[in-house]
Amino acid sequence: MEAPNNRIMATLIPGDGIGPEVTQATVEVLDALGSPFEWELCTAGMAGIDAAGDPLPAATLESIRRTKLALKGPLTTPVGGGFRSVNVRLREEFKLFANLRPAKTIIPGRYENIDIVLIRENIEGLYVAHEHFIPVGADPRAVAVSTGVNTRDGCRRIARFAFEYAVRNGRKKITIVHKANVLKALTGIFLEAAREIAQDYAGRVEVEDRIVDACAMQLVLNPWQFDMLLCTNLFGDILSDEIAGLVGGLGLAPGANLGEHAAIFEAVHGSAPDIAGKGVANPVSLMLAACLMLEHVGRPELAARLRSAISDALLQDQVRTRDLGGTASTKEFTAALIKRL
Ligand code: ATP
Repeated sequence: MEAPNNRIMATLIPGDGIGPEVTQATVEVLDALGSPFEWELCTAGMAGIDAAGDPLPAATLESIRRTKLALKGPLTTPVGGGFRSVNVRLREEFKLFANLRPAKTIIPGRYENIDIVLIRENIEGLYVAHEHFIPVGADPRAVAVSTGVNTRDGCRRIARFAFEYAVRNGRKKITIVHKANVLKALTGIFLEAAREIAQDYAGRVEVEDRIVDACAMQLVLNPWQFDMLLCTNLFGDILSDEIAGLVGGLGLAPGANLGEHAAIFEAVHGSAPDIAGKGVANPVSLMLAACLMLEHVGRPELAARLRSAISDALLQDQVRTRDLGGTASTKEFTAALIKRL
């Protein structure tokens, strides 16, 4: 949605835990960059419960419906009981079927020159958590049942998205990740549909497939063999943390949820309750997510400037937060970055 003066209206959800700290840092940096975004501030997660008695308040949904664009901090999902994941609900509500998670080396560490793009199906499979318990005798929760649903249309749609992304971005190879030897129906249909779509790109994008466990091991042994990974929802959730680990951890891993009705940009990491409020969180993941958002709205030059300033602050100025072996606070890193901009 265009606001006056070519400004672009976007929903801003600071989120839970370290969310408000990394969101504030990101907004300050975007302001220094001269970004086009005009923010509508909204709540969700625990912050939504505190402010509106609802982990996904109606006002937040309305805002995203209006702007079709959001930058979102991490939202706490209670383990075990409590409310259903708000991230999953947002993905369903706006049919955000594609999750884009790039991992690219900025700081060479155990691995150098990693450049992998993971595409994760975002609204099907086991991850959507259609679950229930079956009582046996006196135990009301004696048996746990989880149902995964993958549709041929959904699998084709995400495969098409991945191959189109590859062509647009000069990527050479897609590895389809599955477990079709055991989950023959649930992940077999994914493999089948992806191979079918791959035929339309023959000669342009190379295709191979890997069983998820072998792929996880190969990512540790020889990650350079991978260019793009195309994953089901649950496998993509797990492997995207693994590839984040290859480039220095969750502090450097952005993500984009893309669909027909909206686009929501976020860090791959969670709300990190162990360091929340201490002012030491690394804001780079959310800042890199903001770069994806700038590209999404057609401002790649601003994204490139921000990425290069991040890289200069980390490499040349050596200003780093604790997770990257430095001593800088979130605010000190942000100040160094703004100086670079
Ligand atoms: P959630 O339930 O919200 O996913 P979590 O604690 O299970 O939270 P993460 O929030 O992803 O999972 O955190 C995993 C680990 O990585 C924690 O030790 C956390 O402190 C660390 N971490 C995550 N994000 C960052 C960050 N931006 N900066 C520094 N450390 C981080």
